[in-house]
Amino acid sequence: MLSQEIGSIGGVGKAREKLFFRLGIRTAEDMLSYYPRGYEDRSHLKTIAEAADGESVCIKATACTVLSSRRVRRGLSYQKVTVTDGTGVVFITWFNHDWLAKDFDLSAEYLYFGRVAVKNGRLEMSNPAIIRENKIEPIYPLTYGLTQNIFRRVMAACMRYAGELPEALPDALREKHTLCGIDYAVRNIHFPETFEKFEYARRRLAFEELFILGLGIRLQKQRRAVLCGTPLCNDTAAADFTGSLGFALTGAQQRVIGEILADLKGVRVMNRLVQGDVGSGKTVVAAAAMYVAVKSGAQAAMMAPTEILAAQHYDYFSQIFAPFGVRTVLLTGSMTAKQKRAVCSQIADGEADVVVGTHALIQDGVAFKNLCLAVTDEQHRFGVKQRAALAAKGCAPHLLVMTATPIPRTLSLVLYGDLDVSIIDELPPGRQHIDTYAVDEPMRERINLFAKKQIAEGRQVYIICPLVEEGETSELKAATDYAEHLRAGPFSGYRVGLIHGKLRPKEKDDIMLRFSRGEIDVLVSTTVVEVGVNVPNASLMIIENAERFGLSQLHQLRGRVGRGAWKSYCILFCQTDGEITKKRMDIISGTNDGFVIAEKDLEIRGPGEFFGTRQHGLPELKVANLYSDMPLVKASGEAADELLRGDPALNDPDHAEIRRRIEKMFAQTGAFEIN
Ligand code: ADP
Ligand code: MG
Repeated sequence: MLSQEIGSIGGVGKAREKLFFRLGIRTAEDMLSYYPRGYEDRSHLKTIAEAADGESVCIKATACTVLSSRRVRRGLSYQKVTVTDGTGVVFITWFNHDWLAKDFDLSAEYLYFGRVAVKNGRLEMSNPAIIRENKIEPIYPLTYGLTQNIFRRVMAACMRYAGELPEALPDALREKHTLCGIDYAVRNIHFPETFEKFEYARRRLAFEELFILGLGIRLQKQRRAVLCGTPLCNDTAAADFTGSLGFALTGAQQRVIGEILADLKGVRVMNRLVQGDVGSGKTVVAAAAMYVAVKSGAQAAMMAPTEILAAQHYDYFSQIFAPFGVRTVLLTGSMTAKQKRAVCSQIADGEADVVVGTHALIQDGVAFKNLCLAVTDEQHRFGVKQRAALAAKGCAPHLLVMTATPIPRTLSLVLYGDLDVSIIDELPPGRQHIDTYAVDEPMRERINLFAKKQIAEGRQVYIICPLVEEGETSELKAATDYAEHLRAGPFSGYRVGLIHGKLRPKEKDDIMLRFSRGEIDVLVSTTVVEVGVNVPNASLMIIENAERFGLSQLHQLRGRVGRGAWKSYCILFCQTDGEITKKRMDIISGTNDGFVIAEKDLEIRGPGEFFGTRQHGLPELKVANLYSDMPLVKASGEAADELLRGDPALNDPDHAEIRRRIEKMFAQTGAFEIN
């Protein structure tokens, strides 16, 4: 039976059972859905004459010498034998395979799998595996104490239950998309006879996974769609406000504001993601929405990931809203208890119209009088739960989330399927192209001179500190040491400031204020300035250890310059010059388009690392790859739409297995329930 306990299968026994538990495997069914992370192709048998230098091959051969076993010292012995298949000979050496001396049968023909190498004019193999069959072998992600051989044996024993696996995909659907049955798929994902069969199996399992994911996301969206919010409508207000900004909105900004205002008017709550490259002007778009909310009699809140950014937004909003009598307050964790109490009471009484803050906004003590619009800035820095916590501060408030981490459209539909997406795909006029160069140490002197020249022209410089790896040394120490080094050496006589995450918020504010007033020439910083910070006079950013950053992160960082009227530059110092580093640096130097960079980043790093899907509250995918399986993402999404058209709540008994799968997949995320 599928529910057979793992301890009673294929000689697992009590002792080993725990190791399987550690992998989350309790039953035969769990085992069958524990897929390989890769395969070793031992299926191609070659003759010794055909084996080429450096190649991994499987040969079938018999010994032509005796097997010698020698102990060199304690813990090191080696075994040697020469084998032949009639087309040539191979000299084999093993290390610490003492048991061979006893078990090796000189007259038997064995299958050897390993890498051959030509040394001293002869063919050698070291530590080959002696295998039973030449086939494709699965390789599983295991835990200490389990070997591939044991695991494969238990898996093989579980195969007899594969036929009992319930088929989740309806026949018509499988036929339409040429998908094999679950039994075939599971057999061939574990023990494929050929790679064609494996691919056929993988495709089905990937489709199923994406289909279930797509259904879950759609159900979630349906559930929110019936939520009624407070319609917020004040058409003349929006125009008054945008007319007061002192610049004309870009076409893209106007379009996105239009999309938001249309949502706000409706009784359905808004769930909208605004995606726009660094500097595309997302803040005023959110401001326009908040302004309309306030002029419709409601409160609006904006949550930002750092204190620096929250303070900056607060300053900006206070300034642009003041002429309209809109009262803006700031709430951050670093304020004194007394200050917080005062602000919280303003929020509770409705004396505050617009509330800007950090995570402090979602703390228990914060209660709004009438929160109808909740905005999350730089949403990729927050988890789904935090977004939801902010929403819970109001009564079904409209939600607006903003991000500068651009994601290709089709993918954002998967990732943010529960949100409607608006894209600001245009930069305000006159934006400076940021010339970006990857350099190495010998260029140091010239770059320092260049920085000084910029300062002499009245500009300012960011230097992003060496990024330390965990355990190497603390970020704080690295930043402090680095600033000291610059003050004492290359930039002595200049006004060098230092900012990092460990400073008290008051100190951070102070330094940012001095930098924005031009009282600091060189700001040495950790990545705390990564998001949002806006100092238009800064024209040069130097990034140390650029190879350690993600491409999208580099792009975000460099977005701190090029915000004013001046030609701007970004210099990337790389400590390594490997192939991949070079490729990545070429991408970032080659374009200023965040969408292009995101695509390439995704391609190089793979979606897991790129998105940190957990962060988004999405379940982890075992088989499908959101990037390379794009055609399946589309096809399965269409199939999900079709299924829901016929059975919107999945109540049909035929779809019970699908429901079960959805619940199982989303159970781990804790962010989902279907009713
Ligand atoms: P981001 O999309 O990265 O959050 P911001 O909203 O911080 O970008 O905008 C960057 C800068 O561009 C700000 O100084 C803002 O005032 C300015 N800005 C925004 N929209 C326009 C526009 N249409 N024309 C000129 N400047 C603009
Ligand atoms: Mg921003």
